[in-house]
Amino acid sequence: MLILILNAGSSSIKYKVFSYHNDTITSVFFGLIEGIGETNGSWLHESTVKEKIVYWSSTHQQAFTDLGTKLSVELQGQPIDAVAHRVVHGGTYFSKATVINMDVLAKIIELSSLAPLHNPVNVLGITCVLELFRQATHVAIFDTGFHSTLPPHTRYYPIDKKIAKDYHIQRYGFHGINHEYIAKQAAHFLGKALEECNFISLHLGNGASCCLIANGLSVDTSMGFTPLAGLMMGTRCGDVDPAIPIYLAKQGLSPETIEQLLNKNSGLKGICGNNDMREVLALQDCGDSEAALGITMYVSIIQKFIGGYLTQLDTIDAIVFTGGVGENSSYIREQVMEKLVKFGFKLNKTVNDQRNSLSCYSIAEKDNSILVVRSNEELLMAEKTISLCAALVA
Ligand code: ADP
Repeated sequence: MLILILNAGSSSIKYKVFSYHNDTITSVFFGLIEGIGETNGSWLHESTVKEKIVYWSSTHQQAFTDLGTKLSVELQGQPIDAVAHRVVHGGTYFSKATVINMDVLAKIIELSSLAPLHNPVNVLGITCVLELFRQATHVAIFDTGFHSTLPPHTRYYPIDKKIAKDYHIQRYGFHGINHEYIAKQAAHFLGKALEECNFISLHLGNGASCCLIANGLSVDTSMGFTPLAGLMMGTRCGDVDPAIPIYLAKQGLSPETIEQLLNKNSGLKGICGNNDMREVLALQDCGDSEAALGITMYVSIIQKFIGGYLTQLDTIDAIVFTGGVGENSSYIREQVMEKLVKFGFKLNKTVNDQRNSLSCYSIAEKDNSILVVRSNEELLMAEKTISLCAALVA
């Protein structure tokens, strides 16, 4: 069985093909098309060899057609049996992997009002690829799904409940596919049943969120009604005083300008002009005070979330780092953990500083209370798709 995993973003398409044979899932090839609709684009494709070419496409439609051609060359006539589409918002309709039919697609389109920056692109991806692979089973896997277990006291905001109900305002949470994957990997590493594990999962990428996982389930998370909330991110502000956008609107800034400001020109970029953590760290090393301030804010906000979440658990198995920053920056991990020694989390600095290609490993001094897990959303999506397809034929 061949499974194609797709993640369509506003200007990019990530893809990965897995083969499933004799109960084993193997990655066959993967790639990333970037710069769709922009002035510069590229296409990275990695199978037996790695190739990166200059590629430009003005529309997603064109990029998907070109991807279809590339896949048929790579697959040499073998059919794709199932396609898993990452969909950002499942609202209250979808918590589990779901086979896409016209009704499901209509609901994903309807949810675009809640996720205007994400769901329309996901819909575009689904409609293009439904055409390309008509025989395959198409499955939607939702980034909000893992957070469907949030209890009422973290799900609801302290605002007027009728307004909240009428406008579907609640904490949905995002990055759920990765937080779920991280929890499963960490539980496996600890040799415990997932249902017995409590974690604080820190997904620190360009977007960033943390998740409080109790007995294997998401019970709180930093992103909320939208992925703008919570931690300070590359270009997103995270939690700010909710009166700020109201004030800016009253000063005459349009909703679009405010949206752009908070989503694209805030976070690290807003403070030090750069959203790439590697570059921000290099600037700090050169004595740049704005970069140093950005990093101090970034770390301090993470620590406040960890501190808050620790109060909500009786016991914790591990704090888990993942995402581009969480997996690769020993400096940020060390800074975050520095204030947590008094809560019993002691980092092993030597292990933390060593490069490590394992998918999950401990960086704690004596126990496994601080872990690094390499994100692999595609693998979890493949597993969910295989289970769903097996259930369909059973
Ligand atoms: P996305 O949210 O777009 O998937 P990633 O998870 O790939 O993002 O994370 C991107 C971030 O990870 C960037 O800010 C990048 O600078 C940072 N990053 C990657 N490698 C390192 C590193 N070695 N040290 C510090 N930051 C890193």
